[in-house]
Amino acid sequence: INKKNMKIICVGRNYAEHAKELNNPVNESPVIFLKPETAQNQQRQPFFLPDFSSDIHYETEIVVKICKLGKNIQEKFAHKYYEEIGIGIDFTARDLQSSLKAKGLPWELAKSFDGSAPVGKFVDKSTFEDVQNIDFSLKKNGQLVQSGNTSDMIFKIDTIIAFVSQYFTLKKGDLIFTGTPKGVGPVTKGDQLEAFIGEMHLLTVKVR
Ligand code: MG
Repeated sequence: INKKNMKIICVGRNYAEHAKELNNPVNESPVIFLKPETAQNQQRQPFFLPDFSSDIHYETEIVVKICKLGKNIQEKFAHKYYEEIGIGIDFTARDLQSSLKAKGLPWELAKSFDGSAPVGKFVDKSTFEDVQNIDFSLKKNGQLVQSGNTSDMIFKIDTIIAFVSQYFTLKKGDLIFTGTPKGVGPVTKGDQLEAFIGEMHLLTVKVR
């Protein structure tokens, strides 16, 4: 995989309960934004709180890794375009996002900054009986703070792949962050985040 050419495609407001907690409407088509390759955290590097925000939130999300080139992928064939599932954190500068949203401006400064998209180990999708019935969770300093199940996605993985591939050619190694369930919250210096799919501990992020 050529990491330098990878892109990270993110879906916003894909769990109704999370849309509600931020007072957002449930949209008729997926809300999409991108993060650049520099949003990827190197393995085992801590996450450094950026200076431009005083309210960085975690958003725990199931991540799909694209395994081959595709454009205008039909939903019925979308499952052929990914073999691995992982978990990541869509770090968000909530204060900055709120001010951008209030002005009707794009979210990228609040979403796509350096290190804002750490991902853990990926597992083969055959591990799961049904990719739309996967439990996942996040612990902050050992306490469970977020838990979700992919059955609650408003737009399912195959729907997302079909939708975004109308706009962006998907390439091997691209990542899709599929949205966060309710329970997002702030991080502070010294926090440790641990993300799980089922019982599998796949990602640890130290906040510095
Ligand atoms: Mg998110």
